[in-house]
Amino acid sequence: MQEILDAINAGASSEDFANLTIPESYRAAFVLRSEQEMWEGVESADKDPRKSLHVGEIATPEIAPDEVYVAMMASAINFNTVWTSIFEPVSTFGFLDRLGRESVWGARHAQDFHVVGSDGSGVVLKVGSAVRNWKPGDRVTIHCNHVDDQDPSAHNDSMLAANQRIWGFETNYGGLGEITVVKANQLMPKPEHLSWEEAAVNALCASTSYRMLVGDHAGRMKQGDNVFIWGATGGIGAYATQLVLNGGGTPVGVVSSESRAKLLNAMGCEHVIDRRAEGFNFWKDEHTQDEGEWRRLGKQVRGLIGDDPDIVFEHPGRSTMGASVFITKRGGKIVTCAATSGYMIEYDNRHLWMKLKSIISSHFANYQESWEMNRLIRQGAIQPVMSEVFDLDHVGDAALKTHRNEGEGKLGVLCLAPEAGMGIADPELREKVGEDKITLFQRHARGEL
Ligand code: NAP
Repeated sequence: MQEILDAINAGASSEDFANLTIPESYRAAFVLRSEQEMWEGVESADKDPRKSLHVGEIATPEIAPDEVYVAMMASAINFNTVWTSIFEPVSTFGFLDRLGRESVWGARHAQDFHVVGSDGSGVVLKVGSAVRNWKPGDRVTIHCNHVDDQDPSAHNDSMLAANQRIWGFETNYGGLGEITVVKANQLMPKPEHLSWEEAAVNALCASTSYRMLVGDHAGRMKQGDNVFIWGATGGIGAYATQLVLNGGGTPVGVVSSESRAKLLNAMGCEHVIDRRAEGFNFWKDEHTQDEGEWRRLGKQVRGLIGDDPDIVFEHPGRSTMGASVFITKRGGKIVTCAATSGYMIEYDNRHLWMKLKSIISSHFANYQESWEMNRLIRQGAIQPVMSEVFDLDHVGDAALKTHRNEGEGKLGVLCLAPEAGMGIADPELREKVGEDKITLFQRHARGEL
């Protein structure tokens, strides 16, 4: 592994990389099949990912002809890492077993361990015989859409593919390790003005937000649109806020603390609602929603922007969906990609149909959408929202922080990179974009805002 790291740090040639030996095993973060029942009877909030996420040696699998090995310099925590580590809503070993039954290559994934992680940046070590566009030594970032391009349903929009999967969640050998195995069509060029960890944290959340708001398949936001964003400094919310500002819209961001409100203002979002300070609670009890609270929220939004939102960026799910449907403008869109607080959703359908609103579902992003999002990051138009960096040994602490809603934006994880701040190859662009802008979330986490 040291040889690989030395080659990366020395900027070795593609030929030198091609001559490196692929290690027979590597360190990675994984959960165990034998522990998938460990949380029985434990409340969600009390499940501690530090107990279920292990870091240890994994045998390196072979690569298929359309795959590559990537030496992972850094990765990130996503909420799906939390889901896997608390085995909710289902154990992810079921996904691996299904993939295992599909093909000979799929069988590699059905193991008694599941290496997690759906984001990353690093260097291509070796490419399969069918890979055309990438070579050893290429510096890359990775998106998590894993599709079988021999499946006709994967063409047109690959998110509609019958066998579409999320790498490191529904597949094994994810990004939180020293090496990963991915399909060549998951690779994108690394934004070279960013460090390894800054480049690693974006693809999953940013591409999800891009499809939800900008791409052809969901929100199709126009210049001038008002967009209401739940969790506006969270993983997907912080990219959504930036996309709205960058695309000529007006964001109204919701957060749950004064400190997050300050961060949102510093991002350029003028209209902020602190849901905790305002005491919003849209459920009177487990079975009854409070329409008065929906109205109070709608009134606040009108007070801020003089109008109702054209788009509501929805992901908390059960706790907020009723309010989201209510406050959306006549003819507007509620775009949803998740249900963190519960997936059995309830809303008043009269407010939907009488005002011709639409609920649009969205899930990650296809290769083109991910690529276009990565282009915005490479241009310096959208910034990484990384607030903190952990090393691989402390991946459980990072997952716990995300589980407890204690971190802002994204939490980066160093895999092979020995320290933070390495890998910046375009300092001129970095200077042009501005160190302060790129590191805003880190400065906020250090209490410097
Ligand atoms: P995150 O970093 O934890 O941010 C979510 C934010 O939502 C929190 O910071 C919190 O902000 C807000 N929130 C949480 N619970 C809430 C509630 N009950 N009511 C109102 N606001 C609440 O997570 P993330 O990475 O943004 O992901 C959010 C969800 O989207 C997760 O369920 C994740 O699995 C899902 N997701 C789906 C896809 C996809 O492709 N379908 C992709 C990425 C993420 P405040 O406390 O500051 O309000």
